[in-house]
Amino acid sequence: MAASRIVIENCAIATVDADDTEYASGHLVVADNRIESVGAGRAPENLQNVIRRIDGTGHLLTPGLINTHHHFYQWITRGLATDHNLFNWLVALYPTWARIDEPMVRAAAQGSLAMMARGGVTTAMDHHYVYPKGSGDLSGAIIGAARDMGVRFTLARGSMDSSEKDGGLPPDFAVETLEGALAATEETVGKHHDASFDAMTQIAVAPCSPFSVTTELLREGAELARRLGVRLHTHGSETVEEEKFCHELFGMGPTDYFESTGFLGEDVWMAHCVHMNDSDIEAFARTKTGVAHCPSSNARLAAGIARVPDMLAAGVPVGLGVDGTASNESGELHTELRNALLINRLNTQHREAALNARQALRLGTHGGAQVLGRAAQIGSLEAGKLADFVLWKVDGLGHSTIADPVTAIVFGAAAPVTASFVNGKQIVENNRLLTVDEESIARDARAEAQRLARITAQA
Ligand SMILES: [Zn+2]
Repeated sequence: MAASRIVIENCAIATVDADDTEYASGHLVVADNRIESVGAGRAPENLQNVIRRIDGTGHLLTPGLINTHHHFYQWITRGLATDHNLFNWLVALYPTWARIDEPMVRAAAQGSLAMMARGGVTTAMDHHYVYPKGSGDLSGAIIGAARDMGVRFTLARGSMDSSEKDGGLPPDFAVETLEGALAATEETVGKHHDASFDAMTQIAVAPCSPFSVTTELLREGAELARRLGVRLHTHGSETVEEEKFCHELFGMGPTDYFESTGFLGEDVWMAHCVHMNDSDIEAFARTKTGVAHCPSSNARLAAGIARVPDMLAAGVPVGLGVDGTASNESGELHTELRNALLINRLNTQHREAALNARQALRLGTHGGAQVLGRAAQIGSLEAGKLADFVLWKVDGLGHSTIADPVTAIVFGAAAPVTASFVNGKQIVENNRLLTVDEESIARDARAEAQRLARITAQA
């Protein structure tokens, strides 16, 4: 059957390809779920089977945004422990988190996904690591929510097996056993991971953090991921307290500890990486380990500022992350382009243009694709790649006086999303999700948040 085509023209285009190719006025042609062509001026005249033409006048077209770190379940525990650092915040919230169940996780996943998708995210990820006994099929609920919304998705199947009795941070009832966590992770990969070019669902192996998992779970998790051919994810070098914890327990800093467990490599990406010295950055560059930079969450928990410009200069792949919405209540990624840029200019060296607008856009698109291991398929607008893209309105009140459209969407207010496409299908029109009902998601999430608060209060 002949391909169905969608044509978008008369818009500015930032392709975020290797040369940062841009067009002041260009076109993009989609054939089924792939980009067929992108270039300057109007689309070719003689295209067959065009089912839709979109006039992009007054818009900037970019690749869809890619989120590389999140915890969807936290959508129903936002606005708590608002003045705590990481460890105190975790200890305050673990008893609540350990009481989640399948309906709560489903409602929270829908809320997290909707908030991001409405703001131009086309590929989402969820690092889910709380699996209380008897809580139902949490992974299935999360994956189902992403599928229903039409968002491309990576589930990082997390785990915790080191609780208070072992010297870890979580309460004893919040963790799994080593064997249980590994078996459930392998089952999730077998059931849901799709290795194909246009996969909508992928699974990664993701023990939670050095202070909530045993050395064995890190080591055996890395072996499992490599045996199954999937990626590895965890939290690392987030705070000074974590650094101290690693020195006291393992006699080395987090990066050396991760390397000793096999947890560095081109198939690994790690959230935060705030407290990195030169040799840590060198180790990430040497091993091509990726970083999920979460500037708002790091500010919220007073964790510090990641050395993103130094990482990029060293060749470390870096993407952006919302992080869980208990530490970044906004839950949006397009605002993180601006926050990454501004916060990195305030880092210890106070460098002007430590990051510029185009680097910020690259972090949120191509950088995210690299970190998720999908740079061949998504992250830039190039012929042959998957049709994941966003049309940002830049001629309205918030942006019409900024001549450069990339500057407008990064430095300016969060830009309205006129259209967002994933895999050739439109999921957002004029800031509204087409695939799900936002009001009912908001209502369900509120009810589940209240139920969780009630259960926790009674415990
Ligand atoms: Zn996190």
